[in-house]
Amino acid sequence: MSVSETTTARDISSKGAAGVRMRGVTKAFGQNVVLRDLDLEVAPGEKVVVIGPSGSGKTTILRTTMTLERIDAGTIEVGGRHLYHESVNGKLRPAREKHIREVRSDIGMVFQHFNLFPHMTALENIMLAPMKVHGKSRQEAQALGVELLDKVGLAHAVNQTPGQLSGGQKQRVAIARSLACEPKVMLFDEVTSALDPELVGEVLNVLRDIAEEGRTTMMLVTHEMGFAREMADRVLMFDGGQIIESGPPAEVLGSPQHERTKAFLGAVK
Ligand code: ADP
Repeated sequence: MSVSETTTARDISSKGAAGVRMRGVTKAFGQNVVLRDLDLEVAPGEKVVVIGPSGSGKTTILRTTMTLERIDAGTIEVGGRHLYHESVNGKLRPAREKHIREVRSDIGMVFQHFNLFPHMTALENIMLAPMKVHGKSRQEAQALGVELLDKVGLAHAVNQTPGQLSGGQKQRVAIARSLACEPKVMLFDEVTSALDPELVGEVLNVLRDIAEEGRTTMMLVTHEMGFAREMADRVLMFDGGQIIESGPPAEVLGSPQHERTKAFLGAVK
């Protein structure tokens, strides 16, 4: 595979959201090849839902984009900038950590388990990264935190600690915390899977709001097929380390072509 520094016109013209481009991405854990020469392009502002059987590598796609797992081969670009490579005299070389951190600062990720600091209030949890990572003053971070808690419907919970919140509320705080870093790309890894069924809707509503604002590119791994059908621009069916089917939700979920997609959708319904 040849690699080159590239920037698409769409990336440049987009104000907030950034595109993601994976080329030939391979990732193995020991003998287990999880991503196999994967090519994936997500346009700025696009909302992509990734579906597929458990263990097929969906989370690994998100974790390698977030640099929580490193790739073995290939390239990933975010907003036209290489994540794992730097251009030296026109040639791509493995990037230094400083470069990786800088490009990664455009990406936010929300997990199945919220990982909030239990001894801090909801507001303090949100203020942390803007102050420590982005150098915002306490006052600025506080104003931003209050605004974001309001946005996720938790204005009343600023001074509550995670222990005083329901699972759905904790997940909404975690989403607000991620938004505080003004990501251009947001990755959501089964963010409703750990919630009691009656709490799923409130989190999906927040995702819907973020999607409607259109300021970030969204990649979501979810089993909420109704939600995918309603809000995704594109659904990717993932199996065997590769995308086996991709298209608008009405096509992939409504009339899947691939036998494995049919079998998977039959099982999750
Ligand atoms: P999915 O999200 O589709 O359920 P994952 O991306 O979580 O799949 O996992 C894909 C495969 O990679 C699984 O076989 C899993 O056991 C393996 N895997 C994931 N993370 C690790 C890790 N840190 N170490 C070893 N194997 C892993």
